[in-house]
Amino acid sequence: MYDIIIIGAGTAGLTAAIYARRAGKDVLIYEGETYGGQIMTTPEIENYPGFKKISGYEFATNLYEQAIALGAKFEYDQVTSISGSLETGFTVTSEFAENQAKAIILATGAKNRHLDLPNEEKLTGRGISYCATCDGAFFKGKTVAVNGGGNTAFEDALYLSNLCEKVYLIHRREGFRAEQALIDKAKATANIEFLTNRTISSINGVSELESVTLASTIGESTAELIIDGLFVAIGQTPSSSFLNGFVELDVSGYIVAGEDCKTSVPGVFAAGDGRTKTLRQLTTAASDGAISSVNACACL
Ligand code: NAP
Repeated sequence: MYDIIIIGAGTAGLTAAIYARRAGKDVLIYEGETYGGQIMTTPEIENYPGFKKISGYEFATNLYEQAIALGAKFEYDQVTSISGSLETGFTVTSEFAENQAKAIILATGAKNRHLDLPNEEKLTGRGISYCATCDGAFFKGKTVAVNGGGNTAFEDALYLSNLCEKVYLIHRREGFRAEQALIDKAKATANIEFLTNRTISSINGVSELESVTLASTIGESTAELIIDGLFVAIGQTPSSSFLNGFVELDVSGYIVAGEDCKTSVPGVFAAGDGRTKTLRQLTTAASDGAISSVNACACL
């Protein structure tokens, strides 16, 4: 039986592993995809204390290597269920394995939200993308649009502005959620054009994306925007469906836990973007990783 099983190898999960290993605990980390989580696809991080500028890939790889060097073990498998209690120990079942631990840290984060429009799935990889750093190079010298008004949309638009001839930023309101520094930078970038108070009402194209139809959110008008690429950056939804009633979730699917990261089940902690919280940032993910780990160690 492991001391702690951590589910999710993003910033929160890897930080939790580093703290638990340094406390001398046996740690297994489950990861269903690749280490690093959302930050892997962030072009540049400029708001993590101590780094003026670092790519998401380098940041995540440093964290991963740090956890490995400290002796954390990894299971690359999709967790399907968790059962048990602090008294009996917990069992984590995944597609190909089953492991036990005395405590659990849920650091499963969140996944990109989709527009849920006809054609979206069909044209994903054929003009539609959810990751500017992964797919931006395919649109070198072309015209693209980014949909969203948060940090991700602005970081993506700025990244794409260095590659593409033209970048439209489509947002459903006049105001943005993104940090002011990113907004100022984007407004000062000549090839970024803002299309605010608009939503995408249809995605058009047969075998490849050809255009999107924009609908005004303040009037009745619609217009067609011809683009080669569309980067959807409209936020995330928590990856918590596998928990299936094991811990309490809020109405949006976030794991209910306070700043101490304690969930409704003793011995089970939630860390990172999947937890109910007001500020979802790298810094708060790392902070949750440390807090959940220290509290998990304390209950062993
Ligand atoms: P976000 O902050 O939740 O922003 C999502 C944006 O998409 C909002 O502008 C929202 O509009 C819009 N939106 C949501 N649903 C939509 C829909 N169905 N149709 C059209 N627009 C829609 O998401 P995010 O930018 O991915 O960021 C997620 C979290 O990660 C945030 O806490 C963010 O600060 C953090 N983050 C941090 C960094 C960093 O620290 N460097 C980088 C990236 C992200 P409304 O504003 O109208 O709701």
